[in-house]
Amino acid sequence: MNAIEIFKYLPGGKKIENTNCKKCGFPTCMAFAIKLASKNTCIEKCPFVSNELKQLFIQANITQQHEINLGNNIKTGGETVMFRHEKTFVNPCRFYITLFSNDPDFEFKLNEIANYQIERVGETFKIDGIYLIDNGNINFALNKIKSKNLNIILKSKNDINLEDNFNDIILELDNFSNINKDSTIIVSSQDLNLLSQKSEKLQNDGFKSLILKYDNIENKNIKDVINDLTNIRYQAIEEKYQPFAYPVLTQIKEQDINKATAIASLLICRYSNIIVFDIFDKSMFSALLTLRQNIFTNPQKPLQVESKIYEINNPKENLDKAIVVMTTNFALTYFAVANELEAIETPTFLLITPSDGMSVLTAWSAEKFTADMVKKMVNENKILNNLKNKLIIIPGLLASMKEELEDALPNWKIIIGTVEAFELPQFIEKLNNELTNVS
Ligand code: SF4
Repeated sequence: MNAIEIFKYLPGGKKIENTNCKKCGFPTCMAFAIKLASKNTCIEKCPFVSNELKQLFIQANITQQHEINLGNNIKTGGETVMFRHEKTFVNPCRFYITLFSNDPDFEFKLNEIANYQIERVGETFKIDGIYLIDNGNINFALNKIKSKNLNIILKSKNDINLEDNFNDIILELDNFSNINKDSTIIVSSQDLNLLSQKSEKLQNDGFKSLILKYDNIENKNIKDVINDLTNIRYQAIEEKYQPFAYPVLTQIKEQDINKATAIASLLICRYSNIIVFDIFDKSMFSALLTLRQNIFTNPQKPLQVESKIYEINNPKENLDKAIVVMTTNFALTYFAVANELEAIETPTFLLITPSDGMSVLTAWSAEKFTADMVKKMVNENKILNNLKNKLIIIPGLLASMKEELEDALPNWKIIIGTVEAFELPQFIEKLNNELTNVS
């Protein structure tokens, strides 16, 4: 609840007796409401709070989906909205790979998984953890996984007797009676009602950190799976139904890469917090990690790169041939342009303006890409004074800025570049030919 909503229920908001009485320790009811909304005081400090407000406050403060720490600074859950555009998603869907502890190729497979990583738009992604099935030699396998900084979910039918340094791993067991109540455990069922009942029982038994495993999806129609997962998320987020207020795990047992990729794509979008895969294929994860990045990017914080001059193809050593290309610090724009420039041999200073991560036209219309800004960057980077060809290629979408930039930078030639990044190599090749012919 925000301060205005709280204030309406206080004596000050109702304009009744005790308004601004200061018994809460604050000078006015509004001051108390502001502190309460920001969680800097507690509701009990005001002796005149109505039962109605107390109930609303309890309801408003119920956790929708608990955030669970998986290890290695990786978390899952903590979601507060059904759709990203309402606010943002908090944690991306996590990917785990199944390994058997006594697999003769265990170390080889583990190394392959641990060494896999991809880079997309300036971010590096890896597999989040191992779903370890206990079929013997368990402490050896756990130690090996830990040494790779991968997180662990341990599935076992045996009585677990783990070394002390494995207290933080997540457990999927048949029986939790001997398990520390602070452990994170997995409660599983293929039936939503049963899943809810099991979750409620474990909460009543004192377990606070649960992961809900919606089981056996391979035996169901994918449409029903998505409906059930949406139902769980809806009940958690909108109804604040506590048995479902935990991250949800699904397991894909499909061995066909194309089918597994299609199923995983749906589960990433609706609404699996963790997916366990029974196969590990680099091309599949390249696609899925890219999709995951798209779905879980915070819409309130566009991906951006540092605003500065990037050197591509050693321009400092080739000042007689180097050119300047300019665009905004929206990460997608930067990587699209930089990749094209790296693919050709022309030495280039890529000038990236401080545009709050906005794309070219958005930045221009929000006055985050101005001639003064460009002039300042060019003048601050003295190395640019030593270029033989004093020309700056600006984005084709900003053709209307040409005159403004020429006024701001009278010693420079402003060239209207291409609208699309992929057109740049051909454009620059033509420009280089013209420069060669002139000289
Ligand atoms: Fe207002 Fe309650 Fe504080 Fe008195 S104790 S000032 S009524 S909020």
